[in-house]
Amino acid sequence: MNKIEENLERTEGKIAEACRIAGRERDDVTLIAVSKTKPVSMIEEAYALGIRDFGENKVQELMDKQEKLPSDIRWHLIGHLQTNKAKYVVGKVHMIHSVDSLRLAEAISKEAVKKDVTVKILIEVNVGEEESKFGVSASDAETLIREASVLPGIKIMGLMTVAPYVGDQEENIPIFNKLRQLSIDIRQKNIDNVLMDILSMGMSNDYGAAIKAGATHIRIGTSIFGERDYSA
Ligand SMILES: *Cc1c(COP(=O)(O)O)cnc(C)c1O
Repeated sequence: MNKIEENLERTEGKIAEACRIAGRERDDVTLIAVSKTKPVSMIEEAYALGIRDFGENKVQELMDKQEKLPSDIRWHLIGHLQTNKAKYVVGKVHMIHSVDSLRLAEAISKEAVKKDVTVKILIEVNVGEEESKFGVSASDAETLIREASVLPGIKIMGLMTVAPYVGDQEENIPIFNKLRQLSIDIRQKNIDNVLMDILSMGMSNDYGAAIKAGATHIRIGTSIFGERDYSA
């Protein structure tokens, strides 16, 4: 077994265990392999092992990789998106996880209308209100969602958060529970064009806790591809 295969097997084991404890089906959780900074060859390896959902945080890197890889890959943009770059990703990615301002939602909408597509988006919420610079605060999320929901060409699928890096993943359970509760509260408002079906939360360090708290999409980089090297 090569390294990625070993890593995937170990990760799958932990996902299955968390699902079992939470009384959830494995199929209810989508594993997004976060391939940022990693070469195309490693994505090809994960693809050969059956992975079809990949996450990238930079527009240029995502596009460079996309053109070299099979077209049935679902690309998830998980990093901060600048308004002026929305035009590059609309129509190319399966979902944008990181919408945190009306201005960005408007830019995506405008491009979607131009290209006659519908873009699935998640609203990024800064639940912890610290560490992460991005994301709308939990108290402002509903207002943003109401304003964005009337824009043509976008569909709000749910919420996303990046929890702090913690030593013990249980420490992030309150954050994950808060995001889930927020999605329940917003779903109850029955806002047109807003689904609250997706909760994108949990990374290498804390996906077990996230699954127990109701994550539908977990974003895992290091545990699959190994540590990232930013020195180059
Ligand atoms: C890098 C990144 C991940 C994956 O982080 P790991 O700790 O390597 O699993 C997940 N989500 C976002 C938004 C990221 O930028």
